[in-house]
Amino acid sequence: MTMRVASCRCGQLRAECRGEPVRISVCHCLACQQRTGSAFGVQARWPQDEVRMSGEFRTWSRVGDAGGRATYRFCDTCGSTVAYVNDGLPGLIAIAVGAFADPGFPPPRFSVYEDRKHGWVAVLGEAVEHLD
Ligand SMILES: [Zn+2]
Ligand SMILES: [Zn+2]
Repeated sequence: MTMRVASCRCGQLRAECRGEPVRISVCHCLACQQRTGSAFGVQARWPQDEVRMSGEFRTWSRVGDAGGRATYRFCDTCGSTVAYVNDGLPGLIAIAVGAFADPGFPPPRFSVYEDRKHGWVAVLGEAVEHLD
């Protein structure tokens, strides 16, 4: 079975992910822009049972526009957010795709909050669903 390991920049916080993710998405929302420091976030979700985290992390929670709470897990040393959970998606954990440091990671199927997308960004692929 496929096993992928995500980690923070300094390497002490890790998430071992077993099997294929159930959902891969790009999010253009302003909170993801601020979280990543980039123009969008990319995340892959697994059932929580398939992900084993190790290392020290701190958490921070935020209530989104739609009222759902997300709780982020980030390295206390280097600050990278490796994972987060959404109350609205119980049983799933989102892992930041960049934390895999793997340009061969499978592409996203969903592009959400496109009404907040930077004009120069295009998420390509025939199978991609584009959502505002
Ligand atoms: Zn770190
Ligand atoms: Zn977002």
